[in-house]
Amino acid sequence: MSEQPVIDGKTFARKALVLNGVVALSALPRLKEYLFSTEGEVHYTVSGRLSDSGAAILHLAIDGVLALICQRCLGAYSYRLQIASDLELVDSEGTPMDQVDEDEALDAVVADKDMNVISLVEEEIILGLPMSPKHEADACSIDGALGQVLDAKSSAFSVLSALKKI
Ligand SMILES: [Zn+2]
Repeated sequence: MSEQPVIDGKTFARKALVLNGVVALSALPRLKEYLFSTEGEVHYTVSGRLSDSGAAILHLAIDGVLALICQRCLGAYSYRLQIASDLELVDSEGTPMDQVDEDEALDAVVADKDMNVISLVEEEIILGLPMSPKHEADACSIDGALGQVLDAKSSAFSVLSALKKI
C-alpha cells in the first residue's frame, strides 16, 4: 500500500495509457483533516489522451466512500465520492488566458516527467469535497436546540452575505 505510482505526464497522455489502483485513505496525509476516520480506501483510474487541439489531458476517475465530519454534530458523515475530471497538462504555472478555452475550463496541472499519481488523486478528492457536509436534520445526532441555534447562525450569515451583494 505504500507504493507511489509515478507517471511521465505527457508521454502518458500521448500514448493514451491507463493506470488503475487503490489507495488507502490513511495514505493521504492532506485529506486527513477532513475525515472522521481514515479507514477505507478509494479506487482510481488515470487515463491519458490528447485533446482535439493537441493538449495533453489526464482524466481522473475516483470512487469510494469517505467518512467526513458533520459540521453540525461533528459525527461521522458518510459521503459517496465519485469524481470524474480532466486535468490539462501545462508547461508551467500560469497558462496565458488566451489559451484557455472557457467552454471547457479544465483544471491545469504542471506537466512533469515523474508525476505522483497519488498526490493528483488526493488533490482532486479535496477539491471535490462538499464545502459543509451535514446530516439531514432528522439523521443528525445533535437534537433540537443546539442544532437549531447553529442553523440560525449560519442562515444569519447567509442573509448578511446576500445583503452585501445588493
Ligand atoms: Zn450530524
